[in-house]
Amino acid sequence: MNSFTFSRAGSIADALRRSGSSVRFIAGGTTLVDLMKLDVERPAQVVDINALPLAELTRTPDGGLNIGALARNSDVAHHPDVVRDYPLLAQALRSGASVQLRNMASTGGNLLQRTRCVYFRDPAMACNKRSPGSGCAAIGGFNRNLAILGTSAHCVATNPSDQNVALAALEATVHLAGANGERSVPIGDFYLLPGETPERETILEPGELITSITLPPPAAGARSIYLKLRDRASYEFALTSAAVVVTVSDGTMQRARVAMGGVGTKPWRNLDVESSLQGQRPTHERFTEAARILLNDAKPQSQNGFKVELAKRCLVHALSLATAVA
Ligand code: SF4
Repeated sequence: MNSFTFSRAGSIADALRRSGSSVRFIAGGTTLVDLMKLDVERPAQVVDINALPLAELTRTPDGGLNIGALARNSDVAHHPDVVRDYPLLAQALRSGASVQLRNMASTGGNLLQRTRCVYFRDPAMACNKRSPGSGCAAIGGFNRNLAILGTSAHCVATNPSDQNVALAALEATVHLAGANGERSVPIGDFYLLPGETPERETILEPGELITSITLPPPAAGARSIYLKLRDRASYEFALTSAAVVVTVSDGTMQRARVAMGGVGTKPWRNLDVESSLQGQRPTHERFTEAARILLNDAKPQSQNGFKVELAKRCLVHALSLATAVA
């Protein structure tokens, strides 16, 4: 492991004063410490932000919910407001990692969770995301778990988070603070496609700090589900997952929000999929057509062609379950 200095920030302003391109903020440390041990992350300074007042969940004036960036995944998953009003977020969080990891992992840290591509985590291997310009060992290599949507010739890594898929379907907003002030970004704009610069995963600028996320008020009468398919029942990343929020009235789907995990280079939302559902009756044929649209542009690698059919079935089943609830 590389040598680094360690300090604690006492306030947001204090944290921002210490920030810079060679600085990493640490909360739960469930991603950063792993990657530092592997020599993938090599910060010169680590700044502990756990003393910052960013761990609360509070209702917003319009009936939404603000979740502080330091709120632990377990606390969010079991918070009564989340369980009642945003159950798919609770389901997504509870499906991730282990109890011990969820007790430590923070909301903001989960937003920045790095890919589980095995080559990214091995400094001896070519990886454009870790070492720009070095190549991509996963293309033609071990890519069974990697992405089929949003890939480029430079990177085919998946975003591994469950939380972020639920947040995409819930249309969360991410709040940031930096040297130039505060800004808020819809989660759909927070993540970047790999393109030619896979090392850049979000719009976060060096030194910027995630302070919270906001969920809009829950849609009246909405039904939702997070369905995760994986190789084993616990402590495993998604091969594919579906976060679905649907409002059914008078026998038709008035509103539909869909995001997929395990198949995209970022939490994957396709507005054409949602448009194909809205105003339609919730039938198997309609769900199948939505799944066809979703996977229309899929570009499987040598080992993950099975994800195309798996993702289709995952979406159809999630929509069937969500619209079948009384
Ligand atoms: Fe690196 Fe992305 Fe290629 Fe994996 S898929 S080796 S993360 S460039």
